[in-house]
Amino acid sequence: MLKVENLHVYYGGIHALRGVDVDIEQGQIVSIIGANGAGKSTLLNAITGMIQFKEGQILFKGQSLSQIPHKIVAAGISQVPEGRLIFANLTVKDNLMMGAYLRKDKSGVQKDLKKVYELFPRMAERIDQIAGTLSGGEQQMLAIGRGLMSSPELILLDEPSLGLAPLLVKTIFEIIKDIKNMNKTILLVEQNAYKALSIADKAYVLEQGRIVKAGTGNELIKDPSIREAYLGKN
Ligand code: ATP
Repeated sequence: MLKVENLHVYYGGIHALRGVDVDIEQGQIVSIIGANGAGKSTLLNAITGMIQFKEGQILFKGQSLSQIPHKIVAAGISQVPEGRLIFANLTVKDNLMMGAYLRKDKSGVQKDLKKVYELFPRMAERIDQIAGTLSGGEQQMLAIGRGLMSSPELILLDEPSLGLAPLLVKTIFEIIKDIKNMNKTILLVEQNAYKALSIADKAYVLEQGRIVKAGTGNELIKDPSIREAYLGKN
């Protein structure tokens, strides 16, 4: 569904991605793990056109992806950015509707809104609450819900568990599985390597702008070098 080939991204003189290849099949959860500064967010931002790449290509369903963000959303890709970036002064419902701003199919939008409320009952209870007053975990749920409102085929999640209490981390990962069962494809970037590998059909390890390992989530969990470097086990 999505093929990233030989991707190179620079920030001025910093060579942040150095020939990255990633292949995502429809219906999969694909996780990217890596240390701080490895280039994980850069990869997601390059896919969604938030930053430009210098070399390589990104193919979505066999077609070269435009580098223009709203065209990428229209093509069926949605990003839930790190740090949530919700609209703090708008209500929960208005935030969700912002996710659907490109859509003209009003009945489809209403259906998806209903699905988001089913997925996140807490959002349903707080439709009119100002988003800035939600707890951190609730804001994360809202950000994911908003990401779903564009009706994406592929959803990119950047550090969804960042800063959440353990119980909520568990809930968020359960929800990611539920989203997969809604027939979506998921690219997940996470520092919580164990959780990210546990739910991944396929996973990649990014180090200093390069993919250094790939395999199924299970294979990588069992890999001694991954255990030592990312899972704190040997
Ligand atoms: P983290 O887990 O800490 O979020 P990451 O793996 O997502 O890290 P990136 O944010 O993609 O890493 O950053 C990759 C490299 O590019 C880092 O060295 C970072 O300092 C650098 N970088 C990122 N954004 C910029 C920018 N706007 N200008 C200059 N350098 C940048």
